Amino acid sequence: MALVAALLPAMSGEPAGGSEIGWLSDEDSTPVMHLSFDDGPHWLFTPMLLDLLDSYGARASFFPTGETIAARWDPETTQALLSRGHTVGNHTWVHSDLSTLSADSALAEVARASVGLEALTGFKPSCFRAPYGEVGQIRARLGPDLGMSLAGWTADPQEWRDPPIQEVLSYLQSRERDGMVVLLHDRKWLTLHIVERLLAIYSSRGWTFEVLPGCHATGARDSRVAILESGDPPVGRIEAFGERDGSTWLEGWAFDADLPGGGLPLRVTVSGQEPVIAGRTAEDHHFSFPVSLVSARVSGLVCVWAVDAGQQGHDPSLGCRRLPAG
Ligand SMILES: [Zn+2]
Repeated sequence: MALVAALLPAMSGEPAGGSEIGWLSDEDSTPVMHLSFDDGPHWLFTPMLLDLLDSYGARASFFPTGETIAARWDPETTQALLSRGHTVGNHTWVHSDLSTLSADSALAEVARASVGLEALTGFKPSCFRAPYGEVGQIRARLGPDLGMSLAGWTADPQEWRDPPIQEVLSYLQSRERDGMVVLLHDRKWLTLHIVERLLAIYSSRGWTFEVLPGCHATGARDSRVAILESGDPPVGRIEAFGERDGSTWLEGWAFDADLPGGGLPLRVTVSGQEPVIAGRTAEDHHFSFPVSLVSARVSGLVCVWAVDAGQQGHDPSLGCRRLPAG
């Protein structure tokens, strides 16, 4: 199957380290759903949700309140979410209704959350989700003053009301369209069940699950690497997969502060088969290998881990991608 660069047509040439590259299949009518999760993280449900998303090669956008993520997660945990291909945006520091605040107070509240997130991720968030959908007086200042775009939604199943799962699925069906943005909350047990059903149903129909376009710029390699110290687990991510020279290739980067010259081993599984060491990162921390190196099967779910050669023996996930049926 011929593949075309469809996400970023301007970059359809050779991939370069650290760039955002996406290859999509010929049927670029493949519908995309943007899952977003507000108000987390939850100590138990969020890690379970991350495993669930991995099992479908799905990526999502997270909007924790600054106060909650700063209290519950350290940089290591936050980086692990980013390495799996998800993104983190700003949802204010204390879940403020910005329509009740003066412009200056609202700006300060939102800016405080960006500073808090930067301490965990290494970069300022590029997208903002307003609590209660209320932006107040600062709509025009989000971009110029805070460097963020506004992230809305097109489907709000209100699962905090504890509706039956079937009702949520019917509602989503009624709101179905390519590029739909679904608002959910990763602090609820019910949400896991909804997402499990949703991923199964829509994956089988050929939908893919991507982060919100306005949040794409986050997670640049240099800024994430800058907050790492010796002994920290490696960070990185899969950046692209696609067809080149008749094979399906997987590309990305991974960085271990204890291996500044590269050489970090990468473990790969294809569709649940035995893991294989696919190779090591290059001197520039980039990796690139044909999936056929790992498995004769080049469709299904491909997952990549960094194998930590450092002090603690972590094996952080670099996420999963669902390769199209060949
Ligand atoms: Zn919220």
